[in-house]
Amino acid sequence: TCGICVEKCPFDAIEIINLPQELDDEPAHRYGENAFSLYGLPAPDEGRVTGILGPNGIGKTTAVRILAGELTPNLGNYGTEPDWDDVLDRYRGTELQAFLRELRDGDVSVARKPQYVDQIPNQFDGTTRELLASTDERGDLDAIIDRLSIRPVMDQHIGDLSGGELQRVALAATLARDADFYFLDEITPYLDIGQRVTAARLIRDLAADGDRSMLVVEHDLAILDLLADNLHVAYGEPGAYGVVTDPKSVRNGINEYLKGYLDNENMRIRPNAIQFEEHAPRTVAKGDVLVEYPDLEMSYGEGEFSLTVDGGTVHENEVLGIVGPNGIGKSTLAKLLNGSLEPDEGELDFRLDISYKPQYVEIDQPMRVDVFLQSITDQFGSSYWNTEIAQPLQLERIMEQNLEDLSGGERQRVAIAACLSEDADLYLLDEPSAHLDVEQRVQATSAIRRYAESQDATVMVIDHDIYMIDLLADRLMVFDGEPAEHGHAGRPQAMRSGMNEFLANLDVTFRRDERTKRPRVNKPGSQLDKQQKDEGEYYYSA
Ligand code: ADP
Ligand code: ADP
Repeated sequence: TCGICVEKCPFDAIEIINLPQELDDEPAHRYGENAFSLYGLPAPDEGRVTGILGPNGIGKTTAVRILAGELTPNLGNYGTEPDWDDVLDRYRGTELQAFLRELRDGDVSVARKPQYVDQIPNQFDGTTRELLASTDERGDLDAIIDRLSIRPVMDQHIGDLSGGELQRVALAATLARDADFYFLDEITPYLDIGQRVTAARLIRDLAADGDRSMLVVEHDLAILDLLADNLHVAYGEPGAYGVVTDPKSVRNGINEYLKGYLDNENMRIRPNAIQFEEHAPRTVAKGDVLVEYPDLEMSYGEGEFSLTVDGGTVHENEVLGIVGPNGIGKSTLAKLLNGSLEPDEGELDFRLDISYKPQYVEIDQPMRVDVFLQSITDQFGSSYWNTEIAQPLQLERIMEQNLEDLSGGERQRVAIAACLSEDADLYLLDEPSAHLDVEQRVQATSAIRRYAESQDATVMVIDHDIYMIDLLADRLMVFDGEPAEHGHAGRPQAMRSGMNEFLANLDVTFRRDERTKRPRVNKPGSQLDKQQKDEGEYYYSA
């Protein structure tokens, strides 16, 4: 072994892939010789929400296709016709057996929400109302529409919806069905924190209410923690093999995953722990002043969205976190700063050259990743660029692929790299966490921070993953107001006061996990929740 792993190497870090011990067993499914193999399966649990936590490419979709009855597991015997009786035999005495028997008998109905909601407009031409009409199988679509605040877009064309709207419509379309087993592949991309919490509570309520089994893949750990009753960890070597563990408690599952070591399995799944250390909230802006801007006001026209901005200062070398609901004017402020919009009140005597990564990443050109990045920076391929950008964003493996063939997480990483590779005064990243798995989020975070420090760059990051914002930001800009009507941008402020202001608007408090110091959402009305609200400490402990 290479000395990292407890027993055998689960990585291809050494020449021969030494499979972890349990992999001496037969897999649940193998696609072919030297093709991807899946070991273990998640177990749907009636009335409960089961989470899966793990990297992309590890076989989660394969597992779900099996549980949805689309793929009969071949137990490793590729090339032969799989037989359900063998499968039942194999899973005798496990929690899965009853479910698999129903599956064999055709008694399981499944509803699924796809991972990439951005693709829905390519598949459906019509309004939200038309899309949802055929899904109301239990008669409670109306209640779901209200809880997810979809009413205002019922008569909009699907192609005109924002990402956050599409995500909620897709959730509603799935949850309104009458199924035994619901599979939700990532619920948080493009949703703001309030919407994430609402969606999580709705899913929990629906599971408990009708003895439905919910299986959820999710990379936003604060939301996964809130959402799931138990958790399977998935690990392995993306593209080569994946292992789904037996269910763990959500707290243990997340803690072990972060630690990189699975206690029951006695298995190291990653060389290093992912640290969510409790760090003192950062308080000061570090570098020289990049810009000072006055109070601003602007409106898109009579009766349309308006924005007021409290004047402030942005420094070189800092990462400014930007938080607030969707539709509150965050991109509008960016357009004011780069001069593509004029304020009605207040004057900006500068124009910042802004390199912008939009929320929706659209780089569907028939072009290779390396050619695309070369066209952006002449630093491409330099040792500096490789160390600071390509490696932390794990681009090496996809350099020769076509942009249009990339998965959502790969596309996101290329877009972050492209944004940071531009020459600009200010780098603005809108939701860099979308579709990245937990490790990729941490790596992207450190790439962005290091870049700001080494380049004296100013980076503004809009994100709704509260862990990512906490890890990333030196200071915080908080937006509030009424989405789609009027927004207000506060002055950039220290992390502690910023988080308190932001989370007070949302009425959500966090405590620290005793073992890992990872922040966790408090139950509304719990003693800690009340106490922290009294003290005005919503995030960092006093
Ligand atoms: P995840 O959902 O965790 O991203 P998937 O289950 O989609 O992972 O895929 C796991 C691996 O299996 C990938 O490397 C994928 O290329 C491979 N794979 C998926 N379907 C097939 C197939 N029909 N034949 C061969 N390999 C496949
Ligand atoms: P955020 O970035 O916080 O999601 P935006 O700044 O994109 O918010 O948008 C704020 C509001 O302004 C939204 O309701 C949006 O529909 C509206 N809006 C954006 N651009 C225009 C425009 N050109 N004309 C009219 N309304 C607009």
